[in-house]
Amino acid sequence: MAVVTCDPATGQPLASYPADDWHRIDEALGLASEAAAVWASTPLVQRLFLLRSAGELLTERRDRYAELITAEMGKPLAEALAEIDKCALNCQVVASQAPQWLADHDVVSGAARSWLSYEPLGVVFAVMPWNYPFWQVLRFACAALAAGNAAVLKHAPNVTGCALAIEALFAEAGAPDGLFRSLVIAEADVPSLTARIVADDRIAAVTLTGSEQAGSAVAAAAGAALKKSVLELGGSDPFVVLDDADLPAAATAAARSRFGNAGQSCIAAKRFIVAAPVADEFVRLLLDEVAALPPLGPMARADLRDALHGQVTRTLGQGAVLLTGGAPVDGPGFFYPPTVLDHVEPGMAAFAEETFGPVAVVVRARDDEHAIALANDTAFGLGAAVWSRSSRGLAVGRRIRSGALFVNAIVASDPRLPFGGVGRSGYGRELSAEGTREFTNVRTVYLG
Ligand code: NAP
Repeated sequence: MAVVTCDPATGQPLASYPADDWHRIDEALGLASEAAAVWASTPLVQRLFLLRSAGELLTERRDRYAELITAEMGKPLAEALAEIDKCALNCQVVASQAPQWLADHDVVSGAARSWLSYEPLGVVFAVMPWNYPFWQVLRFACAALAAGNAAVLKHAPNVTGCALAIEALFAEAGAPDGLFRSLVIAEADVPSLTARIVADDRIAAVTLTGSEQAGSAVAAAAGAALKKSVLELGGSDPFVVLDDADLPAAATAAARSRFGNAGQSCIAAKRFIVAAPVADEFVRLLLDEVAALPPLGPMARADLRDALHGQVTRTLGQGAVLLTGGAPVDGPGFFYPPTVLDHVEPGMAAFAEETFGPVAVVVRARDDEHAIALANDTAFGLGAAVWSRSSRGLAVGRRIRSGALFVNAIVASDPRLPFGGVGRSGYGRELSAEGTREFTNVRTVYLG
């Protein structure tokens, strides 16, 4: 069996990769397990040297990697270059900060001396999505490898070229054989083979970034095997505009947050909850921003575009008002125009479900209390943004349930800050000290 990638800008096939059978997967797990044992006792400074080298290679080869991202999942080249640069930055940040993040931590107790040490778990199995095909992988891998673990990746099939390029990147940066391995798994085998990998004794822990369905399947397998899991799932982030907000700044940020990566971001602002007295003005400014956007890339897959259009159609049927966009672009490729739906209300499809594409929904709030209730009217809890010129912004934001709160700024990940969600957005953290310690055994040492 093979995995075939396709160019979402044309719909034409790009490349075909032979899929791994269990025999090859078994071999990879064996090598990873041996590499993990050696890597765990490799001095931290040497492990971090690998990340520095990987960061340098990313910078040297940024054009090549960015072109691969664009070819496989469609984002414009400038956005793909920014993704590679962020990966390189993450390598540098982890390489420079991990000595502090992973240092022994003394705790006063009844002992002569007691402390916590952060020790590796073994082989981490990662299931990753296509929307930031390098970033999602580097985000977990830098943390896992710095902490002394090995990693086995099952990437989304449409970015198999990226998956194999990342495996080669780590090998060329000096990773021992088997330390980082990308598996190629044929679509029909994904549920059975991933469950088998999770259950395998050589796997110590699992991390998944993707949909609730995939998260639930992989976490159930991890739970059955009593293994640690981290889940980074979807979001329906509120972007709350209070009546004292800087409206032009908020509208500019709104367009960037919603339409970057053709809207295919878990932390994109999705529900624009706007104080009624300023809603018309905000909508007017947002439409100006949309009209000035550079052309969006295609969506990554035809089925994702169809699903998004279905959400738009249902929301309009439920009484929302279409202000711009709203129908797939004719011609080859999976393009969908920037779309704005106004007068959206709770219960409508685009409010109740995550919209993973270029669709902004505007919801009008009577007052701050109503805005908070609307923002919290979701099972997700990834990011939240609040716009206000006064201290009300922070006060409102603190009452919204989310893994991250940004006031007068776009929700974004930063290697120095933890990233993750609550509720159906998942659990556990990536990035920063918290993310780097997720795949460690926080070990208590007590000297009597
Ligand atoms: P998806 O179907 O969940 O795919 C993500 C990964 O999970 C892919 O590698 C996929 O492989 C795998 N997968 C799917 N079902 C699986 C199963 N039953 N067992 C094992 N692996 C499985 O996600 P998508 O629809 O392509 O991507 C969009 C979703 O991901 C959105 O909900 C979005 O919010 C979320 N996401 C979250 C974050 C975050 O950081 N929180 C980041 C990006 C995306 P196959 O494709 O081979 O099935």
